[in-house]
Amino acid sequence: QHSYQDKLNLKPYERAVSYQPGDPKPVKACFVVLARNRDWFSLRQSMKHMEDRFNHRYNYPYVFLNDEPFTDEFKNMTQSMTKAEVLFGQIPQEHWSYPDWIDQEKAREERKKMQDNKVMYGGNESYRHMCRFESGFFYQHPIMQQFEMYWRLEPGIQYLCDINYDPFLYMKQRNIKYGWTIGIYELMNTVPTLWKSVRKFMETHRELIPEHNSLWWVSRDNGTTYNGCHFWSNFEIADLSFYRGEAYSKFFDFLDHEGGFFYERWGDAPVHSIAAAMFLQKEEVHWFEDIGYLHPGWQHCPSGDAWLKNRCTCDASDKDKTITNAGWGKCSHEWKLLPDTPEHLRKARV
Ligand code: GDP
Ligand code: MN
Repeated sequence: QHSYQDKLNLKPYERAVSYQPGDPKPVKACFVVLARNRDWFSLRQSMKHMEDRFNHRYNYPYVFLNDEPFTDEFKNMTQSMTKAEVLFGQIPQEHWSYPDWIDQEKAREERKKMQDNKVMYGGNESYRHMCRFESGFFYQHPIMQQFEMYWRLEPGIQYLCDINYDPFLYMKQRNIKYGWTIGIYELMNTVPTLWKSVRKFMETHRELIPEHNSLWWVSRDNGTTYNGCHFWSNFEIADLSFYRGEAYSKFFDFLDHEGGFFYERWGDAPVHSIAAAMFLQKEEVHWFEDIGYLHPGWQHCPSGDAWLKNRCTCDASDKDKTITNAGWGKCSHEWKLLPDTPEHLRKARV
């Protein structure tokens, strides 16, 4: 007597393993969730999905971070969704405020202009602190010091298929530093001068850029312009040593002084993505094509064997939501046009 699942070809890393909440894990890893107190309701949905599709078997801890103290309601309503360990931290003020080189009057004027021009979140001040925090500070929080990898979780998301293996372990065993599931174009009016700053940085820090980078994915004209492709950072699984290392630290510090987190509306997604494309070897970046994921707006729905095997519930033909090889999600599929051959990648060096 064999179940349907038994007949499917499970890969070696998909063979069942599980860890209990207190068990030592093969990777010191956590979910990291930046949230406001009012986000608890939509976080219950995200946690329900994460637990049912993955974490009830693995019990990785959750870390919640907030610029304000968490309420008891938030703590109770999130903690009660999991048997894994849950940690709550407040963000130090210096990680959620204006650095002294920022002209706050100018920042306000620019917000006003962006709002008038209907730029998404253009007039929103706290959103900018959020993007700057997610770009340069989440990995510096005291609670995060005990961890080597993280998986970012946001309110209102859904996991559309079972995840029958441990992506942290998968990455660690293969020396992968950054994993993503949706690649998408940026709204260029949020980052008008980001690439100019990136180029300035590249000119003076060539030694930080390896030969086998994937800059081609973000610039198709040898570095002249940014095509807007970025990994959608509301889902990401990454190695914290990437952020804590010399290259990223210098890069963030440089961008922070350029002022675009406040004078424009630079997102943490293009910042993480450009850094990953620039500082990592192509093989250190991995598309989790088998992970079905929805964040309001877009979904990635796996196809083929994985869809059946992992009990996916998404409709890949739903063109309004599904990332396809056309339109906004073209970036995802273009990742595959960047082959692993050193010959091609050398040319990709900007
Ligand atoms: P979107 O996905 O870009 O539309 O933005 P979200 O509203 O989902 O915000 C991104 C993440 O940052 C989510 O995890 C939010 O809970 C969190 N977030 C956004 N703004 C704030 C804020 O002002 N304070 C805190 N503590 N978290 C925030
Ligand atoms: Mn979101």
